[in-house]
Amino acid sequence: MAHAVNGVVAAGRGAKVSVETILVPDPGPGEALVKVQACGVCHTDLHYREGGINDEFPFLLGHEAAGVVEAVGEGVTDLAPGDFVILNWRAVCGSCRSCLRGRPQYCFNTHNASQPMTLADGTPLSPALGIGAFAEKTLVHSGQCTKVNPKAPAEVAGLLGCGVMAGIGAAINTGGVTRGDSVAVLGCGGVGDAAIAGARLAGARTIIAVDLDPTKLEWAQRFGATHTVNAREQDVVEAIRELTEGNGADVVIDAVGRPETFKQAFYARDHAGLAVLVGVPTPDMQLELPLIDVFSRGGAVKSSWYGDCLPSRDFPMLIDLYLQGRLDLGAFVTETIGLEDVEKAFEDMHHGRVLRSVVVL
Ligand SMILES: [Zn+2]
Ligand SMILES: [Zn+2]
Repeated sequence: MAHAVNGVVAAGRGAKVSVETILVPDPGPGEALVKVQACGVCHTDLHYREGGINDEFPFLLGHEAAGVVEAVGEGVTDLAPGDFVILNWRAVCGSCRSCLRGRPQYCFNTHNASQPMTLADGTPLSPALGIGAFAEKTLVHSGQCTKVNPKAPAEVAGLLGCGVMAGIGAAINTGGVTRGDSVAVLGCGGVGDAAIAGARLAGARTIIAVDLDPTKLEWAQRFGATHTVNAREQDVVEAIRELTEGNGADVVIDAVGRPETFKQAFYARDHAGLAVLVGVPTPDMQLELPLIDVFSRGGAVKSSWYGDCLPSRDFPMLIDLYLQGRLDLGAFVTETIGLEDVEKAFEDMHHGRVLRSVVVL
């Protein structure tokens, strides 16, 4: 039997989102029905609405979520009704060429629910990132549910499902930041601030936050930035070098994802340093670099997809660190809102007025 619940739907390119009645089927084999408790508003949801991801409208938006398992389908043994879970979009398959080589964080065949959720008239919905959690209930693959300590509030836990994990992971997984490193982060929105928090967790000695907006630089200090650079007032590469004894940072993380910022990240590295791209560029962007600089400066340039996270490894660990007071996930939550406020939250996000708005159900 399908469950009729409220969900936030993007009906067409650029159209305002609306709360609609959606039908969520009972879980089939390998699936789980989750009662969503909280879901953060992410830039990717806005990208979906604007048609920037694909054209498979209507979308059921929302993907940074936590909730409680209500029912599981046939064959699901590692999850039970009542479990508190964070939803992930990397339910690893265990059998693709990457999983078989022991690198499940690069899985090429991640799982989603196979039954569609629909509008009341039967029109199938495309759930954002295979999740669709701006809804009272959602249907996912059981592997998309990662159990964590239920003492963590849902509005905090859900943030690990996307942006905050991407940022922390860019520092600790992709960047391999370790004790004593110098780290610079370009762009201090949710992902950039999470990268700063990750660098602090990993023991970085110098953490330089770079942004155009003084308010965001202030926020960055709450997450562990030891120095700030306003890119409107200073040359970013020069400023980072000055703050690192003239050398550049060991790891520079581009959380913006534009050719200009990526070049800054590339040149603000120390020799043999690492530049990590976690901000998502648009398909039209081009990068031009002298090849001799790529060679002679050594080191590496890496992309970070979802912070190269493995949900089963990283989510429970980060929630424990949060509960121990060592990772201030709560500081990412600027406001809690209702399902009907998502459109306004998009606007606030677009104008940089919030770090995260979180829908609480
Ligand atoms: Zn795989
Ligand atoms: Zn996201």
